[in-house]
Amino acid sequence: MDSFARRVRYLRISVTDRCNYRCSYCMPVELEDQLVFQPRAAVLTFEEITRLVRIFAGLGVRKVRLTGGEPTIRKGIVELVRQVRDVGGIEQVVMTTNGHLLDELAAPLRAAGLDAVNVSLDTLDPARFHAVTGRGELARVLAGIDAAIAAGLDVKTNAVAMTGVNDGELAALCTDAWARGATPRFIEHMPMSGGALYHVAQITAQAIRDAIEAVHGRLTVAGGDRADAGPARYWQLAADPTRRVGIISAMTEHFCDDCNRLRLTATGDLHACLGHDDATSLRDVLRAGGSDADVVAAIDRSVTGKRAGHDFALDGTGGPVKHMIGIGG
Ligand code: SAM
Ligand code: SF4
Repeated sequence: MDSFARRVRYLRISVTDRCNYRCSYCMPVELEDQLVFQPRAAVLTFEEITRLVRIFAGLGVRKVRLTGGEPTIRKGIVELVRQVRDVGGIEQVVMTTNGHLLDELAAPLRAAGLDAVNVSLDTLDPARFHAVTGRGELARVLAGIDAAIAAGLDVKTNAVAMTGVNDGELAALCTDAWARGATPRFIEHMPMSGGALYHVAQITAQAIRDAIEAVHGRLTVAGGDRADAGPARYWQLAADPTRRVGIISAMTEHFCDDCNRLRLTATGDLHACLGHDDATSLRDVLRAGGSDADVVAAIDRSVTGKRAGHDFALDGTGGPVKHMIGIGG
């Protein structure tokens, strides 16, 4: 429990700081020179990750999300899912992925115990998809989504809403996701990287809902979603409550008051907030031969220092210097 009485149940773990895509809002080509990918030795091993998950589970964490960079490019990712799933107390293991390798990996990941995937999908136009992601192939990602659904994974799609990029496609992204059996979600663009990649013409959560309602009819608040333990607020079509849509509105309708999350980077830095740069190295404690109690003390310091909220501002200021690619969303 942090000093604002928020109970931490959910740990997001970046398993690699590398990525096979170069999304314009996350890790664009212009930033490539400034980003130093961590050497292998600096990155937590599976044993270190699993030990930390066990310690977090002992403190009350119940849900783990594996993210990146791109988690599916970490060698042995299926085995890591299995190891994390086997930790007592962990009830849910999920992943956020760009979907590029999901066609081959969905079934093994499911067999290893993965419960759900969130797949980034900003546009349904192949050329635009390639432009936004720098390297992406839309057809592969759509095949990955279908494979994940066929494998029995719960699938949500994630689109960062961007003026001039996908603002004309928000309703179509819903139609496509629903047809595949996935739940579409939209994310307000957040000013990471010191605001360097931020498009100031923010599409607000309200504008996202308006665009969807203009095509699909009235949306009503969907109940019971906080059990999902994530940041999205869910809506459903008034005419068909099975058609749901999630909106992650960090900018205009922020959800810091019920934040239940911590984030661990690939190199073992524990970040209590996405929107601030302060972090506590758990890797240093582990590699100095620290006991579980030493790790708990470091986690405790981080959780006690968890801020009331982020300072993201609509003009692109107030965000952290850190890059989204390093923290994983
Ligand atoms: N590579 C994986 C993927 O793309 O899903 C996992 C890591 S990625 C950083 C996690 C999520 O963060 C993605 O859904 C991505 O769209 C989102 N994201 C990246 N940069 C963002 C930004 N500046 N604002 C809002 N969401 C962002
Ligand atoms: Fe890679 Fe995901 Fe960032 Fe795109 S959003 S560059 S796929 S980490």
